Parts: sequence; C-alpha cells; structure tokens
Amino acid sequence: MMGKPEDIVLLDENGYRIDGRKKYELRKIHMEVGVLKNADGSAYVEWGKNKILAAVYGPREIHPKHLQRPDRAILRVRYNMAPFSVEERKKPGPDRRSVEISKVIRGALEPAVILQLFPRTAVDVFIEVLQADAGTRVAGIAAASLALADAGIPMKDLVAACAAGKIEGEIVLDLNKEEDNYGEADVPVAIMPLKNDITLLQMDGYLSKEEFNEAVKLAIKGAKAVYQKQREALRDKYLRIAQEVGE
Ligand code: UDP
Repeated sequence: MMGKPEDIVLLDENGYRIDGRKKYELRKIHMEVGVLKNADGSAYVEWGKNKILAAVYGPREIHPKHLQRPDRAILRVRYNMAPFSVEERKKPGPDRRSVEISKVIRGALEPAVILQLFPRTAVDVFIEVLQADAGTRVAGIAAASLALADAGIPMKDLVAACAAGKIEGEIVLDLNKEEDNYGEADVPVAIMPLKNDITLLQMDGYLSKEEFNEAVKLAIKGAKAVYQKQREALRDKYLRIAQEVGE
C-alpha cells in the first residue's frame, strides 16, 4: 500500500477495474494437481498473473532428530519467491517477508492436517512463487492444500483462501498488483469451508469497522469459490488417472 499517483484510476466511472473486472469478480484461476514426479504431492496454480507451484514431502523422517514430536508429526512450510517472479529482481533466499509468510501459511494449513496420525515425522510443504502479482499468500495456501491432498495426507478439510480489499473507497474482491500497491487496504483470509473455520486473517491498510466486516465477508465468499475450483482440480486428477488405465 502506497500513495496513489493522480493519473492512476483503479475503478472507472462504469465500475470496471484496471484489468476489466467488476468489484466482486475473482481473477481467472487455473489449478492442476499432481504435476511433479518426484514429490509425494504437488499442485500448480495460476491465479491471474500469479504462477505458483507447491510440493509436499512426507510424512517422512525428521532431521534434525530433536525436532521430533512423540505424539504427532510437525508441519514445515517454506514460501519462496523466485528471483524472476517480480518486476525488480528479488535477491534469492529467505528475507523477512518470506519468513513471515511461511509462518502464517503454516498457521493457516495446520488446523486442517491430522498430524497426530504420524508421530515423530515431518510433513514438508514447499511453495515456489514463479510469478507474483499480489495475493501470492492466498494462492500459495490453495496450492499447498491441494499438494497435501495429492500426497494423501489426511485432512479435515481443504484450506481455501482469498483476499478482499479497498480501492477508490470501495470494497472489492481479490486485489491485483496495481490495486495492492495503490489501494487503501488488503485483507487476506483462509478458511476451512466445511465448518466455516477461519485459519488466517490479516489486514494491511486502513478500514472502518463496517468496511472491515464487509471485506471479511467478501473474502470468505471468494474463498468458497476457490474451494470449488480446488475440488474440481482434485477430481480432474483422478478422472485423468482413470482415463489412463482405461476405466
Ligand atoms: N512484491 C514484489 N517484490 C517483493 C515482494 C512482493 O514485487 O519483494 C509484489 C508481488 O507481486 C506480491 C505483491 O507485491 O504478490 C504483494 O505482496 P504482499 O507482501 O502483499 O503479499 P501477497 O499479496 O503476494 O500475499
């Protein structure tokens, strides 16, 4: 969020946004499950101009051993941005932002994963952002949750996620990069839709209480649409396998 230059109009007089969307419209989303041969589970998500890969390993033996928990598995998450994923080349390796995002994504996924089934092991989730255009944490959560399911890790529900925000004084769904840069607020949310649990809620910017409530409601609605796409992507994977074996 930064000051908006005078000449940038994020919402025109007909109610269209910079990329042609209406206020409550999601960007185009494409999801694929089982895209990597050498991971236990994987998924690829294109969400607007975001391109994100998730890979899952585990449950597997933990190194170093002192991290083992006798009663459950531990979940580890690494969110990483490729140097070429953003306009201004990103220095490779972890920085403050990616360490924080890894932590909040872990927190968003953990309530869904049934870790007690695999004592002394680790489930490792790698999220690689190949191209970023705002909303990478919510797209990363959606991808990671599909990769966990693909790895056969037992879960209470898929974790779905989406952000809402404020541009030109209006609450809108799913901010892109320009809207994130020059908008007034961004509210990413992750949910487990089956029981309406919220596993991530963050806010950047400034909103009134009413606007905040509206943004959260809208983000949840967006996440429910994302959930449907996740389910379709999983179904497609199994249909593909069935076709391959001639069923
Ligand atoms: N971004 C960037 N360089 C960076 C970090 C972020 O260009 O080093 C861009 C990128 O497009 C990212 C967006 O800023 O998606 C918004 O970043 P934010 O930290 O709000 O996280 P996100 O919205 O991706 O979850």
